Amino acid sequence: MSHLFEPASSGRSKCRGCAQGIERGELRFGERLPNPFGEGEMTLWLHPACAAYKRPEPLLQALVETSANLPDRESLERAARASLAHRRLPRIDGAERSPGAQAKCRSCREPIARGSWRIRLVFYEEGRFVPGGFVHLDCRKAYFETDDVLDRVLRFSRDLSADEREELRRACD
Ligand SMILES: [Zn+2]
Ligand SMILES: [Zn+2]
Repeated sequence: MSHLFEPASSGRSKCRGCAQGIERGELRFGERLPNPFGEGEMTLWLHPACAAYKRPEPLLQALVETSANLPDRESLERAARASLAHRRLPRIDGAERSPGAQAKCRSCREPIARGSWRIRLVFYEEGRFVPGGFVHLDCRKAYFETDDVLDRVLRFSRDLSADEREELRRACD
């Protein structure tokens, strides 16, 4: 079975990309993969935009194959192609102010000071995203090899207030 797009049949599925619920009737992307825990297949549900950022390959494959009418097709494709062009971009899982001073930046290896902005990283492994450490916000270009990260960072930072989002925006300028 191949990946799919479909309107969510209930309001119970959660997006694996952003951990938010997917509303009933909202278009969702299903990544089909072999069940790592047993036989058969399983489906990972994601918002299409979250999939474009975090699972670009299956999303692009599905875009090519689907006949569904997707209003965001072009922007999804653009985001997914950027994710493939810079292989570390799909690791972005939002940003936060560092609550402590223990973590080291995966880019420069220096500690991340308490209270400073850091980007959370996740790695995709067999159907799930596992925490993968942090990079200084200021190390984004060195690590991701592109400066164009703000939209992704904001998308996966839903717990930030409007003020904090604005701050982040300014810090990325
Ligand atoms: Zn999502
Ligand atoms: Zn750093």
